[in-house]
Amino acid sequence: MKQNKGIKAVIIGAGAVGATIAYVIAIKSLVQELVLVDVNQEKAEGEVMDISHGLAFLNDMDIYAAGYDAVRDADIIVITAGASQKPGESRMDLVVRNTKISRQIANSIKPHYNGGLILVVANPVDVLTYKYQEWLELPHEKVIGSGTVLDSIRFRYLLGEKLGIDVQNIHAYIIGEHGDTQFPAWSATNISGFSIKEYSQATDTPFSKEEQDHIVAQTRDAAAEIIARKGATYYGIGISTSTIIESLLQPLPAIRTISTRLNGEYGLYDVVLSVPALISSRGIEKIPELPLTEEEKQKLYLSAKAIRTVLDELEGL
Ligand code: NAD
Repeated sequence: MKQNKGIKAVIIGAGAVGATIAYVIAIKSLVQELVLVDVNQEKAEGEVMDISHGLAFLNDMDIYAAGYDAVRDADIIVITAGASQKPGESRMDLVVRNTKISRQIANSIKPHYNGGLILVVANPVDVLTYKYQEWLELPHEKVIGSGTVLDSIRFRYLLGEKLGIDVQNIHAYIIGEHGDTQFPAWSATNISGFSIKEYSQATDTPFSKEEQDHIVAQTRDAAAEIIARKGATYYGIGISTSTIIESLLQPLPAIRTISTRLNGEYGLYDVVLSVPALISSRGIEKIPELPLTEEEKQKLYLSAKAIRTVLDELEGL
């Protein structure tokens, strides 16, 4: 149990995603204390045993399985617990089922919660981020969804492949819903200061509209393509969630396309979606508005509408 004083993270849900996040946290030595909570206690214990056997080759860390009382004094509480789609179940049925499970989790967290940032990863992440903020009665800057951070790095990866350049040089955001209505903010995409068009011309790298649309579709459909091949996605989300956690442990803010409740930014209210936000150990610090084109603004409104529709259908849950 607790030996080192320091940063404490709790992961609720030790399934494929939760266990992978725990594994990456251990590899990167992000925290001193890591707790796995799962309704399936044996699964949480098994994951703890598996990761802890590697600690001799990593930095020391206290990792253990526990109950919800572990959220007390946590710096970060990561929520990955949720159900996956059953054969024949509609998307909305799954949303209702996951919302009910999440409500129980929020009720279990509440009596022990005494601060700390909430990072929601379970899907539908935008809707659940909104709901957790409501249920836990926390200010919006303390409840963060993993949003389109993963989609944005998928997009950057595919752009890097196409343009033949180090992905670190590519600045690009997928914004809106973590789902079908997401879209790239092309107007903000640049290759170390060059617009896509400038870069394409200056380096003699053709990049047609059809190729751009194909990359957008590949980004949007990536999860479905991976699930069709291996049944689930967890490495990409494990790595991107660990990067969000790194940003949430530092005093100096970083820009990430996390999911957050908007309070007038982009003219939107009372909805949670992903836009670039400054995040740090204080949570969400600022949501500086991107100068989107009119077409991009319309796409953001459509995304907001799609999320709002689901929230309306869940009214009362
Ligand atoms: P999984 O089925 O492998 O794991 C879910 C875990 O949640 C299980 O271990 C289960 O026992 C646990 N659980 C269920 N109810 C619980 C409760 N009330 N309290 C505690 N634990 C509970 O699923 P997974 O592949 O790990 O996916 C988890 C979630 O992450 C899903 O909602 C999935 O859609 C989502 N996901 C999100 C992203 C993203 O980009 N945001 C990416 C991949 C997966």
